[in-house]
Amino acid sequence: MNPATPLALLAELTHRCPLQCPYCSNPVELERASNELSTAEWKRVIDEAAALGVLQIHFSGGEPTSRRDLVELVAHARASGLYTNLITAGVLLDAAKLKALVEAGLDHVQLSFQDSEAEGGDRIGGYKGGHVRKLELARLVREAAPAAPPQGTPPLMVAGGIGPDNVTAALTESGAWGVDVSSGVESAPGIKDIALMERLVARVKEGIEQ
Ligand code: SF4
Repeated sequence: MNPATPLALLAELTHRCPLQCPYCSNPVELERASNELSTAEWKRVIDEAAALGVLQIHFSGGEPTSRRDLVELVAHARASGLYTNLITAGVLLDAAKLKALVEAGLDHVQLSFQDSEAEGGDRIGGYKGGHVRKLELARLVREAAPAAPPQGTPPLMVAGGIGPDNVTAALTESGAWGVDVSSGVESAPGIKDIALMERLVARVKEGIEQ
């Protein structure tokens, strides 16, 4: 294993977000939408990442669903052989938009919660009704999983599960997620491409043993 080869690309597509969490890691001076990388530029970055040996792409922000080209970018990443994860606050997604992303090849949804209760979640995120929307998206994500998925695992899941006992798990960073995968395939039920994940697990283990 080449230790310089990254496992994952965190693609921060935009600084735009309808929420206003006080702990947000966005810079104080937000990049304007007109200054964001274009669709063609992101496709080039994805191609370069795949050529480097990157296995996963995490679409993030800001709120990545603010980008109109998200479906196109997910499709491009999947066609490039990358495992695709969407890190989202969830309030801009509805059934039709989720369906389009799934059809584009989205493998996994990581849905963030600001609190386990609606009152606290809406207050921290500064978005009235946001918590209810997140729960609705969680339901839609689970419904998007086929009744008899390949390898006995659904293609999509909400990261860490939904509920007061699992909220902290939903805040997992992409690196921690990768290490968690090394504990066994069963711990990543969003897996659709087992061969890809086995390669990832092997590379993570090699890195730990070095
Ligand atoms: S949902 Fe994420 S990007 Fe949006 S304000 Fe909160 S921390 Fe920042």
